Amino acid sequence: MSEEVLLEERLIKRSQQKKRTSPQNYKERLFVLTRSRLTYYDGKAEKKFRRGWIELSRIRCVEIVKNGGGIIPCQNKYPFQVVYDAYTLYVFAPSHDSRSLWVQSLKEEIKDNSVILAKFHPQFWQEGAWLCCRQAEKQALGCEEYNLFGDISRKPLPPIPGEERKNEKQRRPAPPLPQAGTDDDEDGGGDEEEEEMVVVALYSFTATEPHDLSLVKGGEYVILDQSDVNWFKAQNQYGEEGYIPSNYVTEKESGNLEQFVWYNKQVNRNKAEELLRKEDKEGAFIVRDSSAAGTYTVSLYTKCAAGEGHSAIKHYHIKETQSSPPLFYLAEKHVFSSVPDLIDYHKHNAAGLVARLRYPVSKQDKSAPSTAGFSYDKWEINPTELTFMKEVGSGQFGLVRLGKWRAQHKVAIKAIREGAMYEEDFIEEAKVMMKLSHPKLVQLYGVCSHQRPIYIVTEFMELGCLLNFLRQRRGSFSVGSLLSICLDVCEGMEHLEANGFIHRDLAARNCLVNDSLVVKVSDFGMARYVLDDQYTSSSGAKFPVKWSPPEVFNFCRYSSKSDVWSYGVLMWEVFSEGRMPFEQNMNHEVVTMVTSGHRLYRPKLASPAIYDIMQLCWHERQDERPAFSQLCMMISDSLEVDAPPSN
Ligand code: ADP
Repeated sequence: MSEEVLLEERLIKRSQQKKRTSPQNYKERLFVLTRSRLTYYDGKAEKKFRRGWIELSRIRCVEIVKNGGGIIPCQNKYPFQVVYDAYTLYVFAPSHDSRSLWVQSLKEEIKDNSVILAKFHPQFWQEGAWLCCRQAEKQALGCEEYNLFGDISRKPLPPIPGEERKNEKQRRPAPPLPQAGTDDDEDGGGDEEEEEMVVVALYSFTATEPHDLSLVKGGEYVILDQSDVNWFKAQNQYGEEGYIPSNYVTEKESGNLEQFVWYNKQVNRNKAEELLRKEDKEGAFIVRDSSAAGTYTVSLYTKCAAGEGHSAIKHYHIKETQSSPPLFYLAEKHVFSSVPDLIDYHKHNAAGLVARLRYPVSKQDKSAPSTAGFSYDKWEINPTELTFMKEVGSGQFGLVRLGKWRAQHKVAIKAIREGAMYEEDFIEEAKVMMKLSHPKLVQLYGVCSHQRPIYIVTEFMELGCLLNFLRQRRGSFSVGSLLSICLDVCEGMEHLEANGFIHRDLAARNCLVNDSLVVKVSDFGMARYVLDDQYTSSSGAKFPVKWSPPEVFNFCRYSSKSDVWSYGVLMWEVFSEGRMPFEQNMNHEVVTMVTSGHRLYRPKLASPAIYDIMQLCWHERQDERPAFSQLCMMISDSLEVDAPPSN
């Protein structure tokens, strides 16, 4: 039988699972308060899924959170806290009044609890410390007296003398201790962990080792452990457990668009147009991320635009109302509570669009992405499991061949020439590099290090290096496709930057292209293991002077900001379709020129705005150069502006 509902409202809750890498840390939930529980649901009131609850008898403190001027990264700006057992749940209300109502109602319900705190923390626990008292221990005693009957948005009331003893007999029994083993928090402090994470497999995965778990596309799995960002421990519907690649699954959640065929996260405006034109179907559409974070665009193809007599692609920004929760619309007259509802409606009604959304298109590259190694915690590859096929190139370290692992996974195998590499150091570092996993980085799968020559096994990129790709197709690139190449590289570099990893030799020759025309960054960090003075000494003939900022060619001072300089040169290579930078000059001349402020000229295909971005990368002072995260935004903005909508 259902209990009387005391309060019900959509609020936002902050996830306490700090091991999560997903940005979805703030989730909207339908909160329902009854006499015995505070429950939160995903979905709408009429079709909701329970995500978690807290027994009121376990609550030790409910209070507003003083925010001390910090930014609250969600639309609800009125936070309050619910402390229960050893956990703190942060909830964000849409208004002052809503928060007061929740705090007062909850306080009323818990006033007879025996577990009420004497002291509490008035501010957030954030990034490993209490903002109010700077204590770095999550279980540290509160720093301010807690007054259950007060309201800290006003002056606290004095405690009522004798009150503590009076109600002793009527108090609820002490709650059972939280079950051990549900949360293996690193701090030993325990996190709020009422919410179980259910994921849906976007791709099938065949387990290669006994400790892995196979995935069936569309199947649902419960996540048990996310301490390795690349390999989650999961359980399937039969109760079997094992490791799965985290990039093969997406959270089952009403607001998560990844479950829908029409949603293409990694597609920019230019790629969207390519896909739609290739499909050439009336009403073909995709939904993609807009250049402004957190917003979406519908790209729609019509074979015969009214009055134009030929095909056209239109890009419609999905707009949101100012209300709380926001509503979504393409045409102002038709608003919906979710993006999928909006898409459903426009499948049947053009309602102002050039066509109905008739035909969802998804990236042709539906092949599964690379995994961080072939199995959890495995970097050594057994060489007898490799088959060698054709030779595809040769570089500083030796020959590169196409091959297969266990007769089915296409791989590139680099055989390291004797005396070309500091092998021991590299093998040690390979364990770290394997964990760098991103759609725009060439994945390192593992090494064969128990033999000579050692092999480095990586993702295979069918179209080879970017520099040759640009040169071979000179004259065929649109501005949009060049920007899209730059954006791919920028996204890969953003991931390296976020992980504190420096490339040291970023250039078009060190990026590779696959058969879906995705460009990925390769050879990151490898410059450190080269055994060749001509390459490593800044006066050596092979040193990449033309890609280096002054602090590198003068003092070998590498940083993510020296990578940014190289990235500017790479953009120049892209927009000059593979020309050699400072073509007429020797390395030592370039040192003098750059030192005296000279920079590469603007390539013809680069608009002044695009050239401005390159020049920002070439600021003499490192701290004036933008970060890759900023560059990604600038480039995706240019993609919307500089690539004019096609006819
Ligand atoms: P090195 O690091 O030894 O200098 P490179 O990584 O530059 O070698 O590789 C040399 C050439 O081999 C590249 O230019 C490219 O044509 C080919 N190659 C390298 N890695 C791959 C890969 N993962 N997939 C396809 N081709 C590759």
